[in-house]
Amino acid sequence: MKKILVTGGAGFIGSHLCERLLNEGNEVICLDNFSSGSKDNIMHLHDNPYFELVRHDITMPFFIEVDEIYNLACPASPIQYQKAPIKTIKTSIMGAINMLDLAQRIGAKILQASTSEVYGDPDIHPQPETYWGRVNPIGSRSCYDEGKRCAESLFVNYHKQNNVRIKIVRIFNTYGPNMLPDDGRVVSNFIVQALQDKPITIYGNGNQTRSFQYVDDLVDGLIRMMGTSDNVIGPVNIGNPSEFTILELAQKVIELTNSKSHIEFRELPEDDPMQRKPDITKATELLNGWQPKINLEKGLKNTIEYFKKIVQ
Ligand code: NAD
Ligand code: UDP
Repeated sequence: MKKILVTGGAGFIGSHLCERLLNEGNEVICLDNFSSGSKDNIMHLHDNPYFELVRHDITMPFFIEVDEIYNLACPASPIQYQKAPIKTIKTSIMGAINMLDLAQRIGAKILQASTSEVYGDPDIHPQPETYWGRVNPIGSRSCYDEGKRCAESLFVNYHKQNNVRIKIVRIFNTYGPNMLPDDGRVVSNFIVQALQDKPITIYGNGNQTRSFQYVDDLVDGLIRMMGTSDNVIGPVNIGNPSEFTILELAQKVIELTNSKSHIEFRELPEDDPMQRKPDITKATELLNGWQPKINLEKGLKNTIEYFKKIVQ
């Protein structure tokens, strides 16, 4: 039985990861400050004697003896991370330093949840890991993008200078149950709006693209990455390469929910990337043939069922 720390464990992805790690027979310590996550996401794990919940902020040092650390703590929705941009930078950078110091002290393996946002508004399509990105360093997304880019640098340099065993995963747009209804990201927004027959808010003309990954496929990729040998450090893209326009997503959600909602166009936020699609060649090679298995229709249906229980 391994002892595993999941920072951001009460968030959307973290809650699925905690559950899966427990189901695989591990002991899980979930650390969260509940800024963009919820106790409701992990309530059902409380009766498991191998699950522990710690309220803590990773911008402050933390000590525990564990075998592995998944560093997920950080708001991921543009609305959430732009609410308190300095805090977002501190979480990415001071949080990474605190978790890397911990990993170094106790000899644990540590995985960083990085992001496709390190590629910014990309002019290479699809994006391979070798692409250095096109990020506006002073734009409204920079607190997140540059925070995550600096965290990658910290991880690589703790590995080179201090021999810390690291893994960097660049996650592309992921969705599924346990997203908060007011999280602000596109999939949860559209589903909640459709279930309530409210206008579906498309920012810009809806021709921008994203490639949506269902959360179970991501969790599978994260666990496989943690299990690779120490010489595999990444970064590795984990995402679903099926690409859709935001307009196509809106139409799909309206169709699957049988909604009476109409589409309303709003202003496009600053620096909103026009296209995004992962090149997953590296993940497939390094992670034992890993491929996303759940297509958009199936994933949306599962997510709609979840939101039907909590909104309306
Ligand atoms: P989320 O906002 O649902 O979860 C993040 C969790 O971290 C929340 O529970 C929040 O309360 C917690 N947290 C935030 N700041 C903290 C701090 N200072 N100390 C302790 N806890 C803190 O987001 P998510 O979608 O689950 O994303 C998880 C990770 O994956 C993030 O690091 C994010 O950058 C990365 N990621 C997610 C996506 C995606 O599409 N979901 C894409 C790329 C990267
Ligand atoms: N978006 C939208 N309507 C919404 C929320 C988001 O049209 O209600 C758009 C947003 O402008 C972006 C895309 O959907 O082009 C994905 O946004 P999200 O916030 O989910 O993630 P991002 O990939 O931008 O970080």
